[in-house]
Amino acid sequence: MLALAGYPLGLKFRFLDETRGPAADVADWRLASFSDNDALDRFADGVDLVTYEFENVPVSAAAHLASRLPLFPPPRALSVSQDRLAEKDFLSSLGIATASYTAVRSREELEAAAGRLGPSCVVKTVRHGYDGRGQVVLRQPADAAKAWDMLGRTGRTLICEQLVPFTRELSVVAACGHGGKMAVYPLVENEHRAGILFSTVAPAKSVSEALTADAHSIARRVCAALEYVGVLAIELFDCNGTLVANEIAPRVHNSGHWTIDGAETSQFENHLRAVAGWPLGGAAAALPSRMLNFIGEVPPLTPLLEIAGAHIHLYGKEARPGRKLGHVTVCGVDEEDADRLFRKAAQMVGAPVLAARS
Ligand code: AMP
Repeated sequence: MLALAGYPLGLKFRFLDETRGPAADVADWRLASFSDNDALDRFADGVDLVTYEFENVPVSAAAHLASRLPLFPPPRALSVSQDRLAEKDFLSSLGIATASYTAVRSREELEAAAGRLGPSCVVKTVRHGYDGRGQVVLRQPADAAKAWDMLGRTGRTLICEQLVPFTRELSVVAACGHGGKMAVYPLVENEHRAGILFSTVAPAKSVSEALTADAHSIARRVCAALEYVGVLAIELFDCNGTLVANEIAPRVHNSGHWTIDGAETSQFENHLRAVAGWPLGGAAAALPSRMLNFIGEVPPLTPLLEIAGAHIHLYGKEARPGRKLGHVTVCGVDEEDADRLFRKAAQMVGAPVLAARS
């Protein structure tokens, strides 16, 4: 989607990944290990700058490339977001509210943490968890032993977080240019199913000026502290008007996919403008939009295509339970129209095929 947004601007692309991905169909594409410095060097030859759209790129690979040529967002954004403890420590250091949390390295520590933070908490692997993977919810301290058996045995450090009693989940997506310039998209509301983003309502409804100001302030503080350049998303819990930050994604984000069809400038174009040092495009919503992910399977497309204002995006990925294979965005002429189209599309997309959690 970055390449598709960049070609009209005259940009050329080369991608590198450890497995074949959709970009291979639309651009010069290299299969290599992120730890293969020779392959990284060959990849970098003749390239003007490097960016990434996957937060598990090893910091060492980003640092290696950054030593040769401009790389945005900065590698520190990766090190902060790859480690849930570092991420929460970083947010707390900026005075941004997070769920109460503690590091857990043994069954006894988990039992103690669950007793202290509970009765309801969520235990997560500190690294390499996404889309709800590597997470277990504890409803009572006695669930701790089972959670440890599921997650702790591998020797990985865990984080135990208080379960936040949020009223809804929101996210803010911001494009940060060089020199502190920012374009912030409207707050959107996200619905997750089994930890996986299912739908996004853009802009979110009933957002007060104060809530918008809070979200912008969180985004501004995070971007300034990381000296960030590029698009970044912050997942937020709305607790009756108070925002609690859950996660930073140092990349274009699924909850920003609606911007391709519903915003003045898509998040992908703005990411490219930001890293290239070009002026940022407007981030306002052009139309009320609703995005629905295709999870695990692609629904029949013809009925969706019959919906006026529906835009389908397939990623060319092999179907697998829990995998995001594409999405549809419906844009309405007004909120009511967007809601009507959303209900229609949601019926066609149906219940996602979810993965077994590990
Ligand atoms: P994450 O991988 O941290 O983005 O978590 C995936 C989803 O799990 C979130 O979008 C929430 O729906 C839920 N979740 C994660 N952490 C918490 C928490 N501390 N309190 C309540 N819900 C949570």
